Amino acid sequence: MARLEDLPLRSDLRGRTPYGAPQLHVPVALNVNENTHRIPEEVAVEIIERLAGAVLDINRYPDREFMELRQALASYLGFGLTPEQIWAANGSNEVLQHIFQAFGGPGRSSLGFGPTYSMYALIAQGTGTEYTDFPREARYELTPEYVRSAILENKPNIVMLCSPNNPTGTPLDLACIEAAYDAITEATGGIVVVDEAYAEFGGSTAISAISILEGRERLLISRTMSKAFAFAGARVGYLAADSAVVDALRLVRLPYHLSAFTQVAAEAALAHSATMLATVDDICYQRDRIVVELKELGLDPFRSDANFVLFGGVSDSQSIFEKLLERGVLIRNVGIPGTLRVSAGTEAETTAFLSALREVLAN
Ligand SMILES: *Cc1c(COP(=O)(O)O)cnc(C)c1O
Repeated sequence: MARLEDLPLRSDLRGRTPYGAPQLHVPVALNVNENTHRIPEEVAVEIIERLAGAVLDINRYPDREFMELRQALASYLGFGLTPEQIWAANGSNEVLQHIFQAFGGPGRSSLGFGPTYSMYALIAQGTGTEYTDFPREARYELTPEYVRSAILENKPNIVMLCSPNNPTGTPLDLACIEAAYDAITEATGGIVVVDEAYAEFGGSTAISAISILEGRERLLISRTMSKAFAFAGARVGYLAADSAVVDALRLVRLPYHLSAFTQVAAEAALAHSATMLATVDDICYQRDRIVVELKELGLDPFRSDANFVLFGGVSDSQSIFEKLLERGVLIRNVGIPGTLRVSAGTEAETTAFLSALREVLAN
């Protein structure tokens, strides 16, 4: 068997490691921000019915432009969006890859505000785009002035803004997004991508960047069905932007990239969006409970508008991570010293995490 080093691998990929959150079978898995609730049975039944219909035509390629799904996504998002302003792919990671393929590439650069979603750097790498990780301000917050000066200093072609930010949970004011757009317009005429993977957990006060899309043809908002919709296994991510941006992404996508099964499954789920999202309130309740109880334990949770909490005040992250794992609770060491990240699960899972942590800290 050959080793990686024996292969004529692209030189910029040598020594790299693939994305790899552990996939362990444990009683309480709270490590990758999934919705840990199962989808409602009535929706499951309808998905199966639609899959059964689709299988009869599976000898044919699916609708390459997936117009029905784009219509369903446009209706779900609202804001008067049309299907021509919607794009989708196998997870928002693939949407992000399409963006980098179309707007990044060799000789171009991208900028993110770290700590942030680790896939930005990996997708940049994979597409030959330079990536700069610009540090966030105190407690991982960002202000419009700070965002502006970072962009004017780095002059990127792509700015990645994650709101709420993974792994910190930090929401972003629309003023920061407007500042980023104005700054990149001045600096390079590049694009601003707002990754709203966790938007549904922000509550009614969280305002999507989609609300300021009109008149900003280089603003892209990516979303996913993997988190609030409890649809991670189906792999459906999507995007709202100017229809010209969508035309650009169509240049780089593989033909028929969304399978007929994926399309009908997502359409069925979107036809029941209220039912699919019924667990969001409870998840937010568990998140807020985690924040309160971690403070009582003397830890330092950061404010979060997502379905997870990053907390500091941990002396040895890896040892606490391992002791929790011994007790059947898997959370995430994201590599920020003195912190750990936990997803808000069901009430029972959240209780199991908090009790296990209490036990670990007492010993
Ligand atoms: C989970 C996540 C995604 C999405 O992943 P997909 O499953 O590929 O849709 C995108 N961005 C962030 C910040 C995430 O945390």
